[in-house]
Amino acid sequence: MAKIYLDAGHGGKDGGAGSGKRKEKDDVLKMTLAVGKRLTERGVSVKYARTDDTEKKLNDRTAESNAWGAQYYLSIHRNSASPDATGNEIWVKSDATEKTVEKAAKILRAACEADGLRNRGVKKGAPSYTDFAVNKYTKCASGLLELGFITSTKDNTAWDRSFDKTADAIAKSLCEIVGVPWNKERRKGDVNGDGKVTTADARLALRAATALEKLTAEAEEAADMNNDGKVTTSDAREILREATKLDS
Ligand SMILES: [Zn+2]
Repeated sequence: MAKIYLDAGHGGKDGGAGSGKRKEKDDVLKMTLAVGKRLTERGVSVKYARTDDTEKKLNDRTAESNAWGAQYYLSIHRNSASPDATGNEIWVKSDATEKTVEKAAKILRAACEADGLRNRGVKKGAPSYTDFAVNKYTKCASGLLELGFITSTKDNTAWDRSFDKTADAIAKSLCEIVGVPWNKERRKGDVNGDGKVTTADARLALRAATALEKLTAEAEEAADMNNDGKVTTSDAREILREATKLDS
């Protein structure tokens, strides 16, 4: 099974960069979980450095990924500089192989296409020391993605507007990196993408119908039983019927 380690930067007392009420640690956690959800739906095994607002040492993150045997390690951050600085960039270790650079470039290109921001390129090393720890101590190929500048109004607007699209793009490029097909035909009613139609799918559809939960585009398509372009309670009922094989 394909294994990807997702590292949401910072957390807990370490808020990372910020501007106003916006904190890097919150933005990147949201994005990391959205990317992970899409990967899990496609059968990729995902381990997270953190799934909530907790502090975790960099060494613990990389050690965990190494012990687990991840195939790719992606650390997600947001950049910070003067208000006019804009765009996405990705950092790899200073002695990264050509293959590692290519993987990083793929993720970066996908992110830039999705959020429309400038591609600032694949960079080797770190701004003020040799390498970022997450690149230096990981055994597998890795990258540290800086998704826009949290200090830029333009980048924050792009972040909010393109959030789902960007999560899709990053997840899709990660699938390509570990050789997992992105567009797997999903059976109608299989909302969570686990290959079967169960009451859990009906529950998800119902939550989407009542606006309690937002589904990914693929999950929404699977939940839309009558193909009218939206997920409604009647779709949820239909899925429940399928799950429990009730006759109407
Ligand atoms: Zn950061």
